[in-house]
Amino acid sequence: MAQTCGRFAPSPSGALHLGSLLAAVGSYLAARHVGGRWLLRIDDLDPPRVAPGAIDAIQRSLQAHGLLWDGEVLYQSRCGEAYRAALERLRAAGLTYPCACTRRELAAIARAGVDGLVYPGTCRTGLASGRMARALRLRVPDAEIGFYDAVQGDYRQNLARAVGDFALQRADGLIAYQLAVVVDDAFQGVTQVVRGVDLLASTPRQIYLQQCLGLPQPDYAHLPLLVDRHGLKLSKQTGASPLDDTRVSDNLWQVLTALALPPLPELRGSPPAELLHWAVAHWEPIRLAGQAAVQVTET
Ligand code: GLU
Repeated sequence: MAQTCGRFAPSPSGALHLGSLLAAVGSYLAARHVGGRWLLRIDDLDPPRVAPGAIDAIQRSLQAHGLLWDGEVLYQSRCGEAYRAALERLRAAGLTYPCACTRRELAAIARAGVDGLVYPGTCRTGLASGRMARALRLRVPDAEIGFYDAVQGDYRQNLARAVGDFALQRADGLIAYQLAVVVDDAFQGVTQVVRGVDLLASTPRQIYLQQCLGLPQPDYAHLPLLVDRHGLKLSKQTGASPLDDTRVSDNLWQVLTALALPPLPELRGSPPAELLHWAVAHWEPIRLAGQAAVQVTET
């Protein structure tokens, strides 16, 4: 059987915070628990969104927390050729079509789905005369895509109803995250995707793309999101503070507690390697079954 391979794929729009550390630790534990590899990928697909210094800060933080990845770091910004090749295969198979709709036009007619507006199919049968192609979309079937998630359980989604034909390339030429992630995971030999539950609704799109491209489907586990006292997700948008790399043991303690792995009291203040060693042995995602959010505890 092939060796398990997990990954952590942060977007470098800022430094890591406690919420992103939870995804890093969860993916690390899941891979190491079964003796697997754990890779780091930097999702710097969208250059304007890369915060200066963030890539270095993320790597330093991971190392400070004892989260040592295997092999070379993969940068999405250097994978453009692979994305364009995948796009070309989908186009040649007749699975894509150009779309001229602007955001404003869609906002006026489309209904809301699981992740923004459901594309109403305006350009599916061809561009209206005089209209210019802006984006490239994937035709999706009116059928359910289902998978088993190791934390959230069975998940099913009808792509046509929940998302519609989604964009693979934007008007400005930028490749969509959904395509990039599928190409990268296959290229890196990822067999296990462990990440935040905010990406659960994206997974059927990714599985469908894997099917279209003949790529293997990894196993999935979507971890609960870390929320503050008011139930708000810790994120850069809600102003979560960057990880303090001088309190790594406490940070790991908080995250492990949130992952339903409260370390033994005698491990309080232990160095990261010791905490992680204990947690790798005890990792049990079923303890998080069905949880979509977990409140951060004070140390
Ligand atoms: N880069 C994405 C994020 O930071 C995660 C991508 C993934 O894990 O598939 O939200």
